[in-house]
Amino acid sequence: MHPDITEVLFTEQDILAVARRMGAEISRDYAGQKLLLVTVLKGAFVFMADLIRNIDIPVEVDFMAVSSYGAEAKSSGVVRIIKDLEAPIEDYHVLLVEDILDSGLTLNYLKKYLKSRNPLSVDIATLLLKEGKQEVPVDYKYLGLICPDAFVVGYGLDFAEKYRNLPYIGILDPRCYS
Ligand code: 5GP
Repeated sequence: MHPDITEVLFTEQDILAVARRMGAEISRDYAGQKLLLVTVLKGAFVFMADLIRNIDIPVEVDFMAVSSYGAEAKSSGVVRIIKDLEAPIEDYHVLLVEDILDSGLTLNYLKKYLKSRNPLSVDIATLLLKEGKQEVPVDYKYLGLICPDAFVVGYGLDFAEKYRNLPYIGILDPRCYS
């Protein structure tokens, strides 16, 4: 285990099991429909890679990037779009794939933003949920795992751009950011 990690919460096998379950649900729910998965960079890209390989209906992907916490371990509440979608989405059912739903500020903003571009639907799939931490209500359609109220890294999730390559999700030692 990496020396900055105090506890492994979810192993690669745990996360792959989520990708299989969620992929099967998405394949069933969107069969026969035009589906676009929108991934929020950078944190969600590793889970997205697992998820898409467990979807067995036609699917397209696009990427957005928003500013997140930078080198701090708590939400700033400020969402800035750094990279937007590449094509119109009017003909698509859009599923927004996120790594973690914490305060909900990011997803709340992105869902409204995507709705304003008139897709057939917009829904959310999140790998992790920090239960009870939402500052704004956010409806999600697919949920992977409940995450304790701690700052977690790994499997795409970073702190100051580090730890994304860990093949598990774990709690970062608070000494690393205090
Ligand atoms: P929210 O807007 O829901 O508070 O947070 C959204 C984004 O903040 C997530 O997509 C993620 O990038 C970042 N975030 C929230 N909690 C954590 C955490 O525990 N660890 C890491 N690495 N990022 C987090």
